[in-house]
Amino acid sequence: MKEKIRSKWGISAFTLILVVTSVLILNLTQNEPPPEFTITEHNMIEIKEDVQLDSYGFNIIDAEIEEGRVKRNQNLYLILRDLDVSPQTIYVINRESKDVFRSNRVKPGQRYIVYKESDSSKPYRLILHNDALSYVIFEWGNEIRVNTGQKEITKEITEASGVINSSLYESLVEQDKNILIANRLSEIFAWQIDFFRLYPGDEYKLIYEKQFVDGKPYGIGEILAAEFQHNGRTYDAYYFEGEKSEGFYDSDGNGVQKALLKAPFKFSQRISSSFNRNRFHPVLKRRMPHNGVDYAAPIGTPVLSVGDGEVIEAQYRGANGNIVKIRHNGTYTTAYLHLNGFARGITPGTRVKQGQVIGYVGKTGRVTGVHLHYMIYTNGQPVNPLNIDLPPSKAIDDSEREEFDDLMQQLRQRLMDIGSEGKVASVSIESPDESRKALDR
Ligand SMILES: [Zn+2]
Repeated sequence: MKEKIRSKWGISAFTLILVVTSVLILNLTQNEPPPEFTITEHNMIEIKEDVQLDSYGFNIIDAEIEEGRVKRNQNLYLILRDLDVSPQTIYVINRESKDVFRSNRVKPGQRYIVYKESDSSKPYRLILHNDALSYVIFEWGNEIRVNTGQKEITKEITEASGVINSSLYESLVEQDKNILIANRLSEIFAWQIDFFRLYPGDEYKLIYEKQFVDGKPYGIGEILAAEFQHNGRTYDAYYFEGEKSEGFYDSDGNGVQKALLKAPFKFSQRISSSFNRNRFHPVLKRRMPHNGVDYAAPIGTPVLSVGDGEVIEAQYRGANGNIVKIRHNGTYTTAYLHLNGFARGITPGTRVKQGQVIGYVGKTGRVTGVHLHYMIYTNGQPVNPLNIDLPPSKAIDDSEREEFDDLMQQLRQRLMDIGSEGKVASVSIESPDESRKALDR
């Protein structure tokens, strides 16, 4: 009998009347319930299930739910009119939503959910999604209300592994894994591995947070540990966040990512113009992005390469004047403009070291005065060198070494355990179903 009640309690959300509920609780917490509290078919009364919450927290017992997507040229007014909401009500809804929603921002394809009373099919609520996460709730049943909400992101720690046949992207796509992983891996190992020159047979494994919204994959969170076998060498990285150390470290506790120098000078120089995507250009007299930082250094000041890399350009190029461009890895490239001249040996193809002099401050090209225009590109896009999050180059702080080692050992063991699965995946890449099975265990 007890089993029967328990399963009923567990499976359905049937609401029992209060007395029965309390009896049930007593029943579950005591091994030997007093006989008068024992529930039998005769004293158990069920009432109609009246609460069933959806993922937005609304009771949908007496509701009809319809989902849709915003059509081309549809705006909030038209959506609401289609739901038979009166123009007067829409006027109030618009007024109420002034702070949280702009009706002219509705775009085709946006998801919406309509709640209707199940007996009359009368709509009373609209939830309009801005994206997978955030949404606006419009209600006009009893009173007109507009609120915003946000779906919860849940996380699950999961694993991925594979062997590169052609590219990391393809390997991940083949396995149904989020290709964002590829971006993150290439950032982590940017200093060890050139992700544009991977070799067939290179292998990777990682442990990462997979994010879900409404039970559906949403994105990836933090990468906790990763290993990359490239060209016969194995690179590993463990994410650690302590009081003093934060970032990716190898199993010896050394920073995996080497920092770029903060600025391309030995001594600090005055910044005369900052990165600004919407600057008024002093020479051209029009709005033009300023995709770098200007340093007002004296003419002839040595300019340093901010990191190890390969010179990919060293020439006079129009408005840029004498320019040196250095590719540090698959992710980072830097450029140095308006140079007075190049340092000896700086030609395309030359390897340079971090801190090596590559040229001298000048005023070549389209400039108003002597300065260095310095740029950082990540994945080909100019970014602000002053607030780019430069990866750490330091090792784990001694005070946090033990904590790091504990964490690292656990993660390393788990990476090793993926090993055999990774092999399975590599063998069965021809039959994606099998490899998926192997990975999703
Ligand atoms: Zn500039």
